Amino acid sequence: MTAQDEAEQAEQTQALPTNYSPLELEKETREFWIKNQIRQKLEDVEKTAKGNLGYVEGPPTLNGIPHIGHARGRIMKDIRYRWKTMEGYYMPFWAGWDCQGLPVELEVEKLLGVRNKRESIEKFGMVRFIEECKKAIMRYHQMWLQADGTLGIFINQEKAYWTYKDSYIEREWSYLKAAWDQGLLEEGHYVVAYCPGCQTSLSSAEVGYEGSYKEVEDPSFYFKFKVANSKNEFFLVWTTMPFTIITDTMLAVQPKAEYVKVKVDQETWIMVRERVEPVMAELAITKYEIIESILGEKLEGTAYEYPLKDIIPKQAELETKHPLVHKVIGEDFVDVNTATGVVHLSPGNGEDDFWAAQRRGVPIFAPFDDEVKFTKEAGAFNGVFARDADMLVVEELRNRNAFVKIGKTKHEYPTCWRSHHKLVWLARKEYFLRTDKINSKVLEAAEKIDYFYEEPKNRFLGFLKEGKPWCISRERIWGSPLPMWTCQQCGNQHLVSSKKELLEKAQEPLPEDFELHKPWVDRITLKCEKCGGSMRREDFVLDTWHNSGASPYARFTDEEYEKFVPTAFLTEGIDQTRGWANSLLLENIILTGKPAAPYKAFLFQGLTQDAKGRKMSKSLGNVVETNKLLEKTSADLCRFYMMRKCSPVDFMSFDTQELTRRSYQVLSTLYHLSRFFMQNASFDKFAPEKYSLQWALEANKLQPADLWLLSKLQERIQDYTHKLERCAFNAAVAVLDDFVIETLSRLYVPMIRKELWTDEPETFERRQTIYALLYHTLKTVTLLFNPVTPHLSEALYQKVYRQLESTLPETVNLATWPTPNGEIRNPTLEEQFDTLLRVVSISYAARQQGKLKRRWPLSKALVVGPQEILESVKCLEELFLELTNVKHVDYSVTPPDFVEAESWVSSQENDVTVFVSGQRDDKLLGEGIMRDLARRVQALRKDMGFVPTETLESVHIAELDAETMGLLEPYLEEMSGLVRARKVYLHSSRSEVEAEWHQSELDGKKICLNIH
Ligand SMILES: [Zn+2]
Ligand SMILES: [Zn+2]
Repeated sequence: MTAQDEAEQAEQTQALPTNYSPLELEKETREFWIKNQIRQKLEDVEKTAKGNLGYVEGPPTLNGIPHIGHARGRIMKDIRYRWKTMEGYYMPFWAGWDCQGLPVELEVEKLLGVRNKRESIEKFGMVRFIEECKKAIMRYHQMWLQADGTLGIFINQEKAYWTYKDSYIEREWSYLKAAWDQGLLEEGHYVVAYCPGCQTSLSSAEVGYEGSYKEVEDPSFYFKFKVANSKNEFFLVWTTMPFTIITDTMLAVQPKAEYVKVKVDQETWIMVRERVEPVMAELAITKYEIIESILGEKLEGTAYEYPLKDIIPKQAELETKHPLVHKVIGEDFVDVNTATGVVHLSPGNGEDDFWAAQRRGVPIFAPFDDEVKFTKEAGAFNGVFARDADMLVVEELRNRNAFVKIGKTKHEYPTCWRSHHKLVWLARKEYFLRTDKINSKVLEAAEKIDYFYEEPKNRFLGFLKEGKPWCISRERIWGSPLPMWTCQQCGNQHLVSSKKELLEKAQEPLPEDFELHKPWVDRITLKCEKCGGSMRREDFVLDTWHNSGASPYARFTDEEYEKFVPTAFLTEGIDQTRGWANSLLLENIILTGKPAAPYKAFLFQGLTQDAKGRKMSKSLGNVVETNKLLEKTSADLCRFYMMRKCSPVDFMSFDTQELTRRSYQVLSTLYHLSRFFMQNASFDKFAPEKYSLQWALEANKLQPADLWLLSKLQERIQDYTHKLERCAFNAAVAVLDDFVIETLSRLYVPMIRKELWTDEPETFERRQTIYALLYHTLKTVTLLFNPVTPHLSEALYQKVYRQLESTLPETVNLATWPTPNGEIRNPTLEEQFDTLLRVVSISYAARQQGKLKRRWPLSKALVVGPQEILESVKCLEELFLELTNVKHVDYSVTPPDFVEAESWVSSQENDVTVFVSGQRDDKLLGEGIMRDLARRVQALRKDMGFVPTETLESVHIAELDAETMGLLEPYLEEMSGLVRARKVYLHSSRSEVEAEWHQSELDGKKICLNIH
């Protein structure tokens, strides 16, 4: 080696350090990306792309710290982006942030130290409040940028959309305009779920959120309403919400069911027959008698005496408004299998109740204010918070002989997904998108979407079938304003659909600091076109899901919308079934009027849990924050591990202990294989332009093992790509895992390693052939890894492949995605190899029987099995001898009849038996000892930091007995070849040479080694 050679080699070795240190390597890679503006350059792909694949970012809400569950979803998105870019597509992989809504407001309230909306407005004013909301989201934005950066998420942050910006909001208004024009946007009184804590109504989608149903304790209250004009007949009723008796206006029975009159003491109670026994048992009444049976429908129209008229005068007034108030009606929804089969109806507090009243024109009595406290109309209950009225009502009924029994019951009851307050159902004036009217279009569109997995698909379609109207109005501050102005004089309504229109129609000029938010929009009045009166805005903001669901149109220009929507693929967590996936779909159908989703495919990911399978939550303290984790853990390792661990739709238990196991082994093996290749290839001055795979194929230079590797690679490319396409990320990554560890590292490299150990001129071309093959294979694998482990792939690409071939594209992300070459696929050869490897592994089992180490050469083996198996082994006999470390092999279809005095050992698996001869003569013993020693010298070389290609001056082995030295003598030259040394010396005692000795052992005896 010349000095110049050595310098060159040192430089290239430096490029890939001896140890795989992912943290340093990843940092260096990120710096490379930033310095060379790699992400920006990928935008240029659009000019040459073979097609566009639309994408809209599902915007994370900027009110939480990015955790590992978020990371999992973002990795899937990034995989898709990098892979499709390499396939030659352009994808607008641009970020987006969900900025508005209740969660942000609640956080700011906490920060300002106020308890609710009213207090924050009183103390700080809306302008300040909104300013704080903006500051809050920006703090989280920083954390998300950091997490995306370190995780290697190649989303374009510069082109991010923000859901609170004026330009976004006015395009969001286009959706409402479309709804308004089609008669799908309505104002109305509806019963909605209302959270007393957050002081706003919730959409029915929000009510159904995962984990919102909690076991709560409520009263179990039996009471009785007296039949009007009777002496002592009563309807027996049950409720868990006594406060709703304040808004009671009717009783309902099941028309087809049998009801009975039950005599209890001096009174007669009316209830459904089926429930008499259980209810009497519960009430601990043993003496009772059924005296009459009546069909439910016969009870319809019966009047009852509402007992609280004296303290709720409005209830008396209601009786004069409609003949059905305080009468019995028949309704099919009445369940005769629970309680008494007589249900009291409070249309102001229940959905079924509401519709029952609505159908009959019965007035809705809902005397509540914004904090769900009763108003004056509720008489004696004025000012009481609804749920606090429960016991007051019970006491009032007790005083009026309407009380039967009070107890407690535990049941599942919906709570607010944010604040966990028990929700209250209230009739309120709200704005609705009448999505129930377009339900058939919604279902038609949803059927056409690709969901990749059945279970999430069924869940989504099941939810969509509910087809309820969507309550989009919220009584909050930090949100897109509902652009509806109503005339104060004539009630005429106008929906504004852009900022420009607002400018034109406003009665006063807009102030300098104007933005499309409260309080600015509320100050704008319009002139009524019908009567000339003044129009004011309806005091609502929009559901934040409407806000993010508008992203396909709102985040793009018209031209981009045409180009990128419907998007090719979206993915979000399974919790978005009722969230973003739903609002995107509904809004797009409203906007276009067509049964079309804004996405062609949607992957719902499973949620991520802690190592023990528990939900990650602040209260358990088990949330794994992305930024904290990545301070000490490799991003590539996290990415690989999370994709490898389970199917994307499964709930994943994230266990940091597991990171260092198999996943690390795979990445580290790929790294070291690449390094092994690079060291050897640069030693032989390998030039891929000259010794290409094409050259090797055309010149017929490849040996069976090479052809087998190449064939397997083709199959793996196809399989892997197909699995990525079907979002089977875990199975896809398993393909890479198996190819690197099993095929390359455990099988192929050991087959060719020894051929690279020599530097003989006559084997030069063979070595170049192996390099050509390794270059092609490892480079292909590196490209396949890129979507999953972008840092490692980029580092290897730069430090190995671009070193050897400077004409390659600037970044691995611009390299072309590998495609399988059918011509070099050879299934017959693959089968032969499968057979060969099976037989080899049986031979190992046989050796184990005889305690014969694998590196001890043996004289003979005998393979017994069916003809076709024997043929396969015969075809690859040279390799068989090499792998089994046996000098000679015989074949037989029938079991042998041994007479020879050989100490045979054998192992059998199904129809194949392998015999190996355990007899070892001096030659075999000497060679075995030599190989044992060679292994120890190799290990020492590595420990001492010698580059594998470096030739040692000499190797000294001391403390050997005379017999061992004698056996070894014939093999010293072979050994120096194996360990890459000029000469090997043997010594009986270490005192023979002055040297730095290293302790080692051979068959349990101490020996000493020196190399230099
Ligand atoms: Zn709440
Ligand atoms: Zn008017």
